[in-house]
Amino acid sequence: MTATIIDGKAFAATVREKVAVHVARLKADHGVTPGLAVVLVGEDPASEVYVRNKGKQTVECGMASFEHKLVAETPEADLLALIARLNADPAVHGILVQLPLPGHMNADKVINAIDPAKDVDGFHISNVGLLGTGQKSMVPCTPLGCLMMLRDHHGSLSGLNAVVVGRSNIVGKPMAQLLLNESCTVTIAHSRTKDLAAVCRGADILVAAVGRPEMIPGEWVKPGATVIDVGINRIERDGKTKLVGDVDFASAAAVAGAITPVPGGVGPMTIACLLANTVTACCRSQGLAEPEGLTA
Ligand code: NDP
Repeated sequence: MTATIIDGKAFAATVREKVAVHVARLKADHGVTPGLAVVLVGEDPASEVYVRNKGKQTVECGMASFEHKLVAETPEADLLALIARLNADPAVHGILVQLPLPGHMNADKVINAIDPAKDVDGFHISNVGLLGTGQKSMVPCTPLGCLMMLRDHHGSLSGLNAVVVGRSNIVGKPMAQLLLNESCTVTIAHSRTKDLAAVCRGADILVAAVGRPEMIPGEWVKPGATVIDVGINRIERDGKTKLVGDVDFASAAAVAGAITPVPGGVGPMTIACLLANTVTACCRSQGLAEPEGLTA
């Protein structure tokens, strides 16, 4: 069997188009421009690239982008004061604080200072609770992107066996919750899981969010399964730096029914879903209908 390749780059482009259409409508019909504020503390080069990309794509979709760069030594109280100002600013519908934060800051305290209605990363404890109880919430961007691709490929996910490898708060747990909300039978695996190979082999949907290059071989994949590879790992091979996922793509693609590549799979969907969440947050703040197909 050769798997269908789920093209996240192309899918993300369609999400951005939907976002842009909705933004244009919000401006024309309601005089509202969705705005996303991104806060970066410190000079981490990878974070700077992410923030630049987010700002660029926000503007390309017709939204307003507000970037706030603070030096690494910024006192936590100053960051909290900035968040309070952004919470109160009617031009800002989404707030994202780029993680990781410098060591002297308490990330939980900072994230929970964001107005849950503007928490477009979906990390605020209220949004975690709402998602966990199957209520309307802001959904973390990476799992939302995975869900969109799964729904597009399968239609209904009801009754399927889903295995999520990884239990982080930003990917594994919300992914498992979303799949549960879709009526999948969900197993969450992690570093203490016994016989991970057997657990993975039971999966109709296998989501890998581990952070270990090519850890999951094709032999662990059930024939015909859908494999979503969230991992982004930089490795040296043949004297070159290469990006690979948590799944061994070549062997898994020979067995799976469908698979996301790395790069070009889940990665591009994450920023697209951040834009989608910003439009959703804007619509909710105005009491307007939410964009179709852009929420969980
Ligand atoms: P974390 O390091 O926070 O979590 C990794 C999880 O994997 C943990 O739950 C850990 O288990 C589990 N794990 C580690 N080793 C093993 C093992 N040998 N067997 C089974 N489980 C194991 O990572 P994140 O969730 O933040 O990210 C996961 C991957 O996804 C990374 O490669 C990251 O770069 C990528 N990522 C990609 C994004 C995108 O946009 N595409 C966005 C976010 C992340 P335990 O809890 O027991 O320690």
